[in-house]
Amino acid sequence: MEKVLYKSTRDSSKLVTASQAILKGLSDDGGLFVPTTLPKLDKSIDELSKMDYKGIAYEVMKLFLSDFTEDELKKCIENAYDEKFDTREIVPITEADGAYYLELYHGSTIAFKDMALSILPHLMTTAANKNNISNEIVILTATSGDTGKAALAGFADVPGTKIIVFYPKGGVSFIQERQMVTQKGDNTMVVGIKGNFDDAQTGVKKIFGDREFAEKLSENGYQFSSANSINIGRLVPQVVYYVYAYAKLLADNKIAEGEKINVVVPTGNFGNILAAYFAKNMGIPIAKLICASNENKVLFDFFETGVYDRNREFMLTNSPSMDILISSNLERLIYLIAGEDSDKNASLMKSLVTEGRYEISKDMKDKLNSFTGGFATQEETCAKIKDMYEKNGYVLDTHTAVASKVYDDYVNKTGDRTKTVIASTASPFKFTTSVMEAIEGKKSDEPDFELVDRLSSISGVKVPRAIDEIRTAPTRHDHVCEKDKMADAVRSFLGI
Ligand SMILES: *Cc1c(COP(=O)(O)O)cnc(C)c1O
Repeated sequence: MEKVLYKSTRDSSKLVTASQAILKGLSDDGGLFVPTTLPKLDKSIDELSKMDYKGIAYEVMKLFLSDFTEDELKKCIENAYDEKFDTREIVPITEADGAYYLELYHGSTIAFKDMALSILPHLMTTAANKNNISNEIVILTATSGDTGKAALAGFADVPGTKIIVFYPKGGVSFIQERQMVTQKGDNTMVVGIKGNFDDAQTGVKKIFGDREFAEKLSENGYQFSSANSINIGRLVPQVVYYVYAYAKLLADNKIAEGEKINVVVPTGNFGNILAAYFAKNMGIPIAKLICASNENKVLFDFFETGVYDRNREFMLTNSPSMDILISSNLERLIYLIAGEDSDKNASLMKSLVTEGRYEISKDMKDKLNSFTGGFATQEETCAKIKDMYEKNGYVLDTHTAVASKVYDDYVNKTGDRTKTVIASTASPFKFTTSVMEAIEGKKSDEPDFELVDRLSSISGVKVPRAIDEIRTAPTRHDHVCEKDKMADAVRSFLGI
């Protein structure tokens, strides 16, 4: 088996192992780590279709994380995909209205972030051991709402780690905020910033790039890493469920061997859909990758025109986890379609910082032919939730509803009836207020937890454990800071 190493999208000359890439999170030059070659599956899809989620997770992850031993990787997988998930299947698939909804939200914080963040802490501590790291690892994370809680749940009380989460104060749902500010664990800290998600992500990236800060940390026995999807340790576990989805549809005779499928992904930071692209490159027969955006439709415009332009108003929508104008993971795709030319990529990324935009060449755009974009407004998203509920009794969360509406538009426009998997990224309970408003056609002034109970009764779905947990949990975090004071918040938490 060829050993996969990792290189930076901004400087291809230095190579690191998978475990080193996971420990670092982001490359020193500000680039993201990408594998030297995108691996191909070495088991047939027929063989995979006889495996369970954990079995497939091993077959996929071993190809990317080639310096982990079989034993190490299997232990990480065992510890991640266990009773934290409310179903043994880990990711059930529900057929509704002519599409397959891949429910990625059955983990402990009821968003798809659990798929990767329940394993990342295990990968990280294994990587630290392998590399004889004695420093404590400080996870710095920016969140648009869901990564924060999933990372906190994953890293809380993990020996040898601390975790600090920054979220946009006022830019997340009531339930998302309650989930984060009630987080237990002495090694956790949650800070609301006076800014939006892009501000939080930019602030975190800036702290990562600060050499002096890094030295100071090191003197005090700390080093940073990231739980955002800029970390390859986030991305790799996300490839697994696309492989699983295909294998499962085959096992259930929903598709024939080799039959192509389309995949629709509600997109923000471009991590989830990039994982689908990696799965396609591994040999999963995926025809179209449909990138669904909300009103922050910077990616839709990019796929239409080849121009990425963040110079526009930032919208707060009812799908807050997709309220993003700087999609970090797109950089990995840009690097790949630039023919793995790190100078070319670095200059485009520089232009994104200085001018807020860049344009790719025709040559590069041609390589994006498996991607297509779409977007849905908030009204369309609500209408889709209501329609799906009324016709099928199936309740979608706001993010999944964006994808579902974009899929309807795609079919109407193209007539393409290829069987389709829609990534269902959150439980509707996580966005109860918006979901109930959509279904009932009006805003309610009832307390959120009463709406939760009504959602449960109309949908026939039990209230998830993640929601019951926060009903009465005390607030443990109430820090709020200016967006340019994030570094100070980190220093004060670490006492340095
Ligand atoms: C994070 C998130 C997204 C966006 O995923 P990306 O990988 O950032 O594109 C979509 N929906 C939900 C519910 C999320 O939490």
